[in-house]
Amino acid sequence: MSFTSADAAKIKITAVDVFVYDLPLQQPFRIAIGTMEAANDVLIRLRTDAGLTGLGEACPFPPITGETQATNIAAAKALREIVPGRNPLEVESLLRTYGALLHSNPSLTAAFDTACHDILGQAAGLPLYRLWGGDRTSFETDITADLDTPAAMAERAAGFVAAGFSMIKIKVGQGREADLERLRAIRDTVGAGIRLQIDANQGWSPSTAKDTLKKMERFDVLFCEQPVLASDIDGLRDVRRTSPIPVMADEAVYGPADAVRLIKAEACDSLNIKLMKAGSLTAMRKIAHAAEAANMPCMVGCMLESRLALTAAAHVVASHRNILWADLDGHSSHRIDPVIGGMGFGRGRVTLPEGPGLGASIDPAFLEKLPRV
Ligand SMILES: [Mg+2]
Repeated sequence: MSFTSADAAKIKITAVDVFVYDLPLQQPFRIAIGTMEAANDVLIRLRTDAGLTGLGEACPFPPITGETQATNIAAAKALREIVPGRNPLEVESLLRTYGALLHSNPSLTAAFDTACHDILGQAAGLPLYRLWGGDRTSFETDITADLDTPAAMAERAAGFVAAGFSMIKIKVGQGREADLERLRAIRDTVGAGIRLQIDANQGWSPSTAKDTLKKMERFDVLFCEQPVLASDIDGLRDVRRTSPIPVMADEAVYGPADAVRLIKAEACDSLNIKLMKAGSLTAMRKIAHAAEAANMPCMVGCMLESRLALTAAAHVVASHRNILWADLDGHSSHRIDPVIGGMGFGRGRVTLPEGPGLGASIDPAFLEKLPRV
C-alpha cells in the first residue's frame, strides 16, 4: 500500500488500544538507586481509518523517571480521549499537544510517539532509519553487568565476552572500595582488549566521584555515566574538570532543553539519550542534533524495555553520525521475547529490520492474552 501526500493528509487515528505488558526478568536488576523485579510496561496500539496500525511501548523505570505502570496507564487513558481524529503523521504538532499534557509520563508519551512513527514509516513504505536518512544497517552494542559482588560481576562479564560482546557496561555507585574492586575484578577477568564503561547512577558525591575516578583511570575506562545526582549540574561540571575518565550525563538529560543546559554549562563530555526519558523519538533526535552542533558525542541507552521499544531506539542510532555508542540490551534480562521481527541482537551487534515503519510487532497470540485497559 502506498500513500500520496493527499492520502497522508487525511489519515486519522480512530482508536487507542492500551495493554498491560508485563515482562518477567530472569533475576532482579540492581543499580545504585533501586532494584527492578520485572519490566511492568504498557503497550499502545493506534488504529487508523487508513487500515494502518502502529505499536509503541512504555517502559517506566520508577527509580529514575518516577513513573509507574499505573501512572502510565492513567496517562494513556487521558491520551485516548484527546487523539482520535488527529493525524498520526503530524508528530511535531502532536508532540506539542500531548507533551505538555503528559510531561511527567515520558515513557507513555514515548510509546505514543513510537506508534505514530510506526504508522508514518508504513505510509512512506520505508523503515524509520531510511526515512530519517540513516545509512547504518548494523552497529555495536554493549551489555550491562548490574550491581553484585565483584566476583559475580566478573563471572557475568566473562560470559558476555564468551557470547561475543567486546563492550561491557559496569554498574557502580555503591561504596568507593567495593566499586574499585568490581572494576579490578572485571578488568582482570576480561583482559585489556575489552572496552569497559561504568555507570554510577548518581550514587557518588562529587568528592567521592573525583577520588574514585582518579583511582579507576588505570583500569582503562571509556567513560563514566552520571557520577553524581541528576540535579547537581555544578557538581557534574566539577567532577568533569578533574576526571581522567570522560563524564557522560544520563539522568541529568531527559529532553532537548536539558541537553542544551548541560552543553552550555560544559558539565559533561557526552550524553546518554533514552527513549523513555526523552519522551519521544522526535525528542531523541532533537537531542542528537543539539549535541552534534556542539561537537558532542552521544550514546543511546535503554531501561528494561522489550525488543519493540529497543527497535525504535535502534532506528535513531542508525540515523545519527554522532551517536557513537549504543546500550540496547534491555530485553536480554527478560524471560520472554514476544516481539516478531524487530532488531537483531547477537554477538555484540544490533541489526536494523528492513520492514516499513518500526519493522517490529508483537506475536498476535501473545497480544491476544494481554490484559486490555
Ligand atoms: Mg545510566
